[in-house]
Amino acid sequence: MGGSITLHREKGLNPKLTVCQCPVRGKDHDGNELVFVGARDYKQTCPKCKCVCYGGFDRKPGGGSMRKVCPKCDADCEGLNKEPLGEYEKLRMPPEPCGECAGYMKQGIIILSVKDGDPDYRTGGFWVLKEEAVKQIMDGNPEMLADVLKRRVCLMEDSVCEKLGLTKAVKKEVDA
Ligand SMILES: [Zn+2]
Ligand SMILES: [Zn+2]
Repeated sequence: MGGSITLHREKGLNPKLTVCQCPVRGKDHDGNELVFVGARDYKQTCPKCKCVCYGGFDRKPGGGSMRKVCPKCDADCEGLNKEPLGEYEKLRMPPEPCGECAGYMKQGIIILSVKDGDPDYRTGGFWVLKEEAVKQIMDGNPEMLADVLKRRVCLMEDSVCEKLGLTKAVKKEVDA
């Protein structure tokens, strides 16, 4: 959706709740962002790649006129697969870091605790460490450090979190 909103005749800004698919949290959960859809109170599904766009795809010039075009696969979606949004439908956000996590990533590195020996099993620990602290912890492993500083997220086994004293620090709760 573009930056400007056309108000809905009855619903005004028409705020919608969101479902956060932020990969940091690793799970669908209620987002804390509202999206104002205004008059664009519908969704459109690309017939080719099936990606969903709330408010419909943006128009791009093509074939001599402005057409609604899928940003992922470039299919022409003009007038196709439009469905009204349900009154209480929650919008599924793209699988990108949400506003909250993006903020933490600016402040430092997000540490997520996982079960020893099973990196897919999140145990719910969530801390934000300053870069300086992470540099100290990974002093002997420059490759891993460079990778973590780039990705801004680091999975850490429970026993390591405990050794570092993180488990005694205040946990930021996540619904994992
Ligand atoms: Zn597509
Ligand atoms: Zn997030």
